[in-house]
Amino acid sequence: MSDHRTDRTGPADALRPESRIVHLPLAEAAGSRPLGIPLHQSHLFAFETSEALTSAFGGPDGAFFYNRFGNPTVRSLESAVADLEGGAGAIATASGMGAINTVLLALLRSGDHVIAQRSLYGGTFAMLADLGQRWGVEVTHVSGDDPDEVAAALRPNTRLLHLETISNPTTRVTDLPGLIAVARGAGVLSVVDNTFATPLLCRPIEHGADVVVHSATKYLGGHSDVLAGIAVFAEAELHRKVWHYATELGASADPFAAWLTVRGLQTLALRVRRHCDTALDLATRLSAHPAVSAVHYPGLPAHPDHDLARRLLPDGHGGVLAFDLAGGREAARAFTESVRLASLAPSLGGVHTLVLHPASTSHRQLSDEELAAAGIGAGTVRVSVGIEHPEDLWTDVEQALAKV
Ligand SMILES: *Cc1c(COP(=O)(O)O)cnc(C)c1O
Repeated sequence: MSDHRTDRTGPADALRPESRIVHLPLAEAAGSRPLGIPLHQSHLFAFETSEALTSAFGGPDGAFFYNRFGNPTVRSLESAVADLEGGAGAIATASGMGAINTVLLALLRSGDHVIAQRSLYGGTFAMLADLGQRWGVEVTHVSGDDPDEVAAALRPNTRLLHLETISNPTTRVTDLPGLIAVARGAGVLSVVDNTFATPLLCRPIEHGADVVVHSATKYLGGHSDVLAGIAVFAEAELHRKVWHYATELGASADPFAAWLTVRGLQTLALRVRRHCDTALDLATRLSAHPAVSAVHYPGLPAHPDHDLARRLLPDGHGGVLAFDLAGGREAARAFTESVRLASLAPSLGGVHTLVLHPASTSHRQLSDEELAAAGIGAGTVRVSVGIEHPEDLWTDVEQALAKV
């Protein structure tokens, strides 16, 4: 690139310090290329011609001009995740909820009907309830393992089916191919939250999904240092449509958040392998412990969705598991406060092992009947397995179990 100061304003030396310090030259790599993804911490881009600027407004693949519409670092993240998920395009957002809201608000209008899984991420469940109460969107909740239930819930105004690949915290696996086929047959769009599985374990677009959403805060970023989200679209047309709405909503990803997420993404395959191996190891050992009455992990043959999980998630069953302590709520409190290597914290998908008592935290708004229906007991503990050495982790879990 030529020096724009010379092009536009004459020789640089003619400018006074006040002007030169504003119009700094861009240092570009000549004869080499950066291996790290460059952080384009510029929210604004300048053009040579007015025609070029006008055409930049046209769609998600246009030139960069203003970050709410696109940014090179953010585009690197979008391209990488779209590629992993097998999609035509993606929109990175400020959070997972930003991605989910962007998609739901772009695709729904008052009077539409949504079919959604009952065991949804709390924020998504609340958002759908809000759409129902304040925006006149009707919502029917289904179990997630019965295509006939989805068929029975269909109405002429059904617009969208919203699913999660693996449910929280009991790790039930959703019959994505079966449920999505029913929606597809009725011309209903399917949105799948693939946060728990990651595109390395499951690619919902291969099973017919139209949109895949992620809280990139979890496995994609993976280091508990960034809040981010992303929506991936199977078709370019749907991508373009939602992109137009996204630019109005303004939940766009910040370049630095996208940069951290891309940096994390580069080790996703190694991390996910380790998460899966350690989670299976921990689930197996927990199953044999006298203080534990049940273990919920799809990799265990006793899990109700084990066969489905082997078909849908052939390369591993994720890093989240749950287990029930026979001692109930007090035992769960003692366990979660006694771990030393693991930390008592919400969230999941990072390099650190985390433990959580869903009945008093993430699912505290549920009644006892609703908790029971969701398979969550007073003594249920969720574990997001990190990438520590499995023996160190078991030593910690064992000493905490001795305190319950
Ligand atoms: C965390 C999470 C979200 C919300 O993501 P944020 O990045 O916290 O906004 C949505 N879905 C699932 C499954 C999650 O685990």
